[in-house]
Amino acid sequence: MDGLESWLFPGGQFLGVRWSVWKFIGYAGNVLFFSRFLVQWYATEKLKRVVVPPAFWWLSLAGSLLLLVYALRQRDSVFILAYLFTWIPYTRNLVIHYRHLEAHLTCPACRQLCPPQSRFCFQCGTALAKEVSPQGESPAASG
Ligand SMILES: [Zn+2]
Repeated sequence: MDGLESWLFPGGQFLGVRWSVWKFIGYAGNVLFFSRFLVQWYATEKLKRVVVPPAFWWLSLAGSLLLLVYALRQRDSVFILAYLFTWIPYTRNLVIHYRHLEAHLTCPACRQLCPPQSRFCFQCGTALAKEVSPQGESPAASG
């Protein structure tokens, strides 16, 4: 690590700050963690309703993991505890988001992606089959 550090930071300073690879990791974590708020705010302003885009959770996860790595390096129990468990809700939100996306139904007529609970395509009105049996009939049609 010393060879890389002396190559990236000659004299150990940049912009008057004594930098190191570890300090860079800590600042990168801060930048990622803070940028999630900008992403969320932008998405909310764009749609004129409160939304939390998946990028928010990805930035939260990446930022908090970098900050955890930095805190472990600093051996600072306060910051280690602050970031030790935050990955759990971030990861869970991403899992739920991608499961929800996977559960969307594709309209056989117009290929529009419709929400999981949809019975009809909101684009063209075609009836949507929840599950298709091996014979190609939907359970609702056969029952
Ligand atoms: Zn359709």
